[in-house]
Parts: sequence; structure tokens; C-alpha cells
Amino acid sequence: MGANSAPLSAVSEPHLPSGPAGPGHRKRTEQAGPVLLYVASFPYSGSTIFSIALGNSPDVLNIGEANYLENDWQDKKPCYCRKALADCPFWSGAKKLTEAGPGAAGPSLQLEDHSALRFLDSRDLPFLKRLLVSLGVPLTAVFRQEDLRDYASRTASFVTSLSQAFGAWAVVDASKNIRRLEALRLYSDLDIRVIVLKRQAQDLLASRLKRARRRNPRYSPLSAPVYLLWVLYHRFAIRRQTRRMRKEEYLEVTYEELCDTPQALQRRIGNWLGTPVDFGIRGGNVIDTSASHIFTGNVRITKNDAPEKGIRLKKETSSAPSFSALERMVLAVSRRIEI
Ligand SMILES: [Zn+2]
Repeated sequence: MGANSAPLSAVSEPHLPSGPAGPGHRKRTEQAGPVLLYVASFPYSGSTIFSIALGNSPDVLNIGEANYLENDWQDKKPCYCRKALADCPFWSGAKKLTEAGPGAAGPSLQLEDHSALRFLDSRDLPFLKRLLVSLGVPLTAVFRQEDLRDYASRTASFVTSLSQAFGAWAVVDASKNIRRLEALRLYSDLDIRVIVLKRQAQDLLASRLKRARRRNPRYSPLSAPVYLLWVLYHRFAIRRQTRRMRKEEYLEVTYEELCDTPQALQRRIGNWLGTPVDFGIRGGNVIDTSASHIFTGNVRITKNDAPEKGIRLKKETSSAPSFSALERMVLAVSRRIEI
């Protein structure tokens, strides 16, 4: 792997106390480089709302599932703020930044209609490649090193120019994708802090089964046991990645904490980051979403018709009376899985 495998330097000093982004703040951001707050979560674990909450902190910018920005971009597509992306004040500005990176760097992302996904984020990634990476085969054995390097440097360039333009010391990336995280850790000099968002296996599985029933016309309750493997697969992938990280590089949090004790959770994350975190909680556990500009992630959230109302934190119950006997049995088994 050569020179690119140099370990990332740990952030040992606390960040500046947050406040309005003044020139002094910007200067420090330029010197130190932005922090990439990477949300590595299980699917259906509330990562979209969690990243919106993180992005409410002063001078923290949430860009949602950043690995799908290029694929999902369309000038006319509505942003969470209800404006078309081309007219949204945030994304129209971000698009301009992609044309040239900081310094002499070239274009970063392609925020254009019909642009293709980068190789690592492809939804059509060949099964074999997906499997090899999942089994722990190093990315460099599966992908070309120059592609990985290009992917990471363009992403880093995009994140850095965003943070400079918007005076943000941290950018939240809710991509979840573990391959992406690994590539960025290996090939970019971004200061990456990982928040692993977990959720109880039973609730995770219940959400997945409900979605399969809703969206997959060929779903049969008889296939419910297969979805147990899905839970185990993601558990394995996340654990494999955290095993490679130093303790201070990542923080594990749970969806249950977010819903039940959000104030305590924002304090815990703030202590870990060394700077206060503010989820923007209004009365009744509602997360303020009025400043949010996302267009990737959970569509139930991103297609919200009333961003000004915010989103109420609530846990879905895993007991649905409509589950079949086999589904209920599989859910009972999943209770034994420690995420
Ligand atoms: Zn917007």
C-alpha cells in the first residue's frame, strides 16, 4: 500500500468553541482542515434524522448521504427546503464549488443531471466485489488504487471547499457505506470522526420486514429468516471497520438514545468531539429541520411537505399484529443478537 497507508493523525486538541463563523474561525478551519463526521449506521436506524440533528449544531454542515449526491442530483429535484436543487441557496452554491477544488485542485463532484455514480458507490457493484470487501479483503485488492485515490481526493476536495465556503468546522456525511469510509480513511487526509449509530436487532429487523412487505411484491413471510442474515451481515461489516480504528476515532450511539434521551446524547457527542453539540430540539422531542438542505437519504423524511414543522423523534414498535407466526419467531430470535 506504500505511502498512502500512513495513519491519520488523531485530533488531540479541542475545536474552537462554536459560534458565528467569523473570519478568525474561517482561518482556523483553513489551517486545520475540516472534520468529516461520518455516520456509519445500520440501514433503518434513523441515520437521516440523526444527521439532520447533528447538522443543527453551530457551524456543522449536514450533506446527507454524500455517496449518492452525484447519482441523485437533478437540477429540478426538490431539496428538503422545497426549492429545486438549482435554486436552493445551499446546493446552488455547493454546485459552483464543485467546478474547482481548493487551491489548484480540479473539479470535485459532478453535480449534473444524469451523472453516473462513482465506482465505489455504484448500486450495481458486481456481487463478487461486494462479497470480497464484505469478507474483509482489502479494498486495494478489489479496486484499482488510482481509482480509490481519485475517489478519495475528489471527495476530500469537495468537503474542504464546502467547509471553507460555509464556515463549517465539520461536515456530516451520512453515507453509512463502509467501503466509502475505508477508502476515505486510506486515501484522504480528511480528519474523519466516525459515529456508529446502532439500533436493537429486533427493531432493525422489524423495520426491514415492514419495508419488504410494503415494497417488494414478491416478498413472502417464509423468507423472513433470510432477513436475519441481512442483520448479521451489517453487524459484521460495521464491526470489521471499527476493529481497525483506534478507540478515539469512533463513538457508538444508539437510535434508542436518540429517541429517549436526546439531550444526554448531544452532551455525550459534544464531550467526545470537544465542542458543544446542539440537536436543535424543540419541545416534545421535535428536531428542528428548518435549516436542513438534504436530498438523499430516507425518502419519508426528505419528501416531508412541511420542513418548518420539524420531525418528532419516536421509536417504531417491533410488534406489529400483522406479522405472521414465522416472522414473529424470527423477530424473537433476533432479540438474542447483540448489535
Ligand atoms: Zn435546500
